[in-house]
Amino acid sequence: MNVPKSVVVAVDGTSGSGKSSTCRAVADRVGLRYLDTGAQYRAMTWWMLAAGVDVHDPAAVAARAGEPVLVSGTDPLGPTITVDGRDVSVEIRSDEVNGAVSPVSTVPEVRSRLVALQRELVGAGGIVVEGRDIGSVVWPEAEVKIYLTADPAARAARRALENDTSDVAATQESLLARDKIDSGRAVAPLTMADGAVHIDSTDLTLDEVVELVVGLVMERE
Ligand code: C5P
Repeated sequence: MNVPKSVVVAVDGTSGSGKSSTCRAVADRVGLRYLDTGAQYRAMTWWMLAAGVDVHDPAAVAARAGEPVLVSGTDPLGPTITVDGRDVSVEIRSDEVNGAVSPVSTVPEVRSRLVALQRELVGAGGIVVEGRDIGSVVWPEAEVKIYLTADPAARAARRALENDTSDVAATQESLLARDKIDSGRAVAPLTMADGAVHIDSTDLTLDEVVELVVGLVMERE
């Protein structure tokens, strides 16, 4: 497949819209790297909780945002995230982190640190990047921009399945609480970037969404 090696694919959207599965499959299919920026915000949040920082005190979070050393591995078949050398891939998916990540992500010092890290990783391109502000803030010049959404009930059902819980109602409540903060915050709110293609995945299978995105990437040749 002849995909330009420098292409940047920016995928933004709400929690549980299928971003991670889609992005990993697209990156694998077309031979690009993959970056999950949500995992970086989660890793920062995990570190704050472990360090005993009050995550609801923006000044306390800001004061420590420069401390943890975060490293993201970009293989779409086995993405990794470490904090100070420790693999935290499992820990960052806990309920505690789910409940604290959106407030931590509103803090400008957290965002500027992680956006700098993300821009370094995007580097010369050849990458699929997922998040909330990739097409709008991190890499507005991305050749392909996708805004991926789905109905809250569909998102909650998918996320509950992933997390092996039968409590779909509680999962939906947690997703909607995060959406509200992510869309309403002052710095880099979740929004559809200029030039983005909106894909509603409610009635689509993962394969169908992947096909659509691969098609858009191939068009950029
Ligand atoms: O994508 P995921 O649901 O893992 O992201 C977790 C949280 O990280 C989001 O709810 C949001 O608060 C924050 N986030 C962000 N900007 C990004 C990616 C994630 O603020 N680019």
